[in-house]
Amino acid sequence: MDVKNIRAYGTVAADADLKQLEINRRGVTAKDVEIDILYCGVCHSDLHFARNDWGMTQYPVVPGHEIVGKVLKVGDDVNQYKVGDLVAVGCLVDSCRSCANCKNDLEQYCPEWVGTYGGYDKHLETNTHGGYSETIVVDEAFVLSVPENLDLAGIAPVLCAGITTWSPLRHWNVGKDSKVAVVGLGGLGHMAIKLADALGAHVTLFSRSTNKIDDAKALGADEIIISTDESQMQSAMGRFDVIIDTVPYEHDLNPYVGTLNTNGTLVVVGYLGPLDPMLVTVPLIMGRKSVAGSLIGGIAETQELLDFCGEHNITSDIEVINMQDINTAYERMLKSDVKYRFVIDMKSLKS
Ligand code: NAP
Ligand code: ZN
Ligand code: ZN
Repeated sequence: MDVKNIRAYGTVAADADLKQLEINRRGVTAKDVEIDILYCGVCHSDLHFARNDWGMTQYPVVPGHEIVGKVLKVGDDVNQYKVGDLVAVGCLVDSCRSCANCKNDLEQYCPEWVGTYGGYDKHLETNTHGGYSETIVVDEAFVLSVPENLDLAGIAPVLCAGITTWSPLRHWNVGKDSKVAVVGLGGLGHMAIKLADALGAHVTLFSRSTNKIDDAKALGADEIIISTDESQMQSAMGRFDVIIDTVPYEHDLNPYVGTLNTNGTLVVVGYLGPLDPMLVTVPLIMGRKSVAGSLIGGIAETQELLDFCGEHNITSDIEVINMQDINTAYERMLKSDVKYRFVIDMKSLKS
């Protein structure tokens, strides 16, 4: 098979900065689409993965799974896309396509799903590499259509921050009468507020940061609760149908469970790992409450969200950076100093 050597940005060790690397992309096979990457969002998962926070990273790593670009070339059997189309790629680039999850449009829960980076490219027999790169080659079944009316850089974060919050909002039937709360105002949190608001819900933000109140209101939050203020937390007891918790690090879930209504669900999408302190079951039992988790979304659901964003004119609030600024961007993300997603202009890597 043809192999193309391209420029990318990645890291070779958990404690090393990201730097320019050369990687291989496979040549276009019959069902493949080759994409010229125009923009790529910066997700907190990119940082977790680059720094081996989850203990499973194999190096080198090229992060990036919020990819928007233009079709450069298509394989002989591609029928959904043509050269020049605006397209997107999110967190998934393949799956088994035959298990029950794949058949139910839940490819993200397929035991053989292939991540856009850190997965296994069966053609090249190497790890997959993500969107901090000039181009990417993806099977058309995992390529998405981008609405033409939206800002291209602003749409990139929909591919992960958007779908990760949209999928639980849809699964737990959020609509006009719902009371939704979002924990943490970062990339995922700000998309959760916008999307829950667009679905007609009453939206509350839990934040540690008193300086984000005006922004949260502008994004569509009806109310902000400062999570470090005991009296504000007390006033929120028993109120929410669905809470989307986007906090990336270990934290106490129990105060948030207390703010769920009867039958309410706290959906953890951020932190991966054991809880300390542990969950107290009393409020779960006394109020038939649930604590759940959720992973990104399937391909059909991601297309549904892109179309919804096109209809409702929703994009992410972004700060566009050059590829060379990525290490500073990671440090700022760790300090919650992002308004509210960094997006890399990939021209900076190509020049
Ligand atoms: P982000 O932009 O850094 O936002 C996280 C927000 O959480 C911060 O802005 C901050 O909000 C709050 N926060 C940060 N550290 C905290 C701490 N120690 N205690 C309490 N609150 C804290 O991150 P992101 O890109 O939205 O990603 C959030 C998490 O979701 C990451 O762990 C990422 O890996 C994960 N993720 C999961 C999925 C999935 O499929 N489940 C998909 C994508 C990302 P305030 O300042 O408002 O408190
Ligand atoms: Zn992500
Ligand atoms: Zn499958």
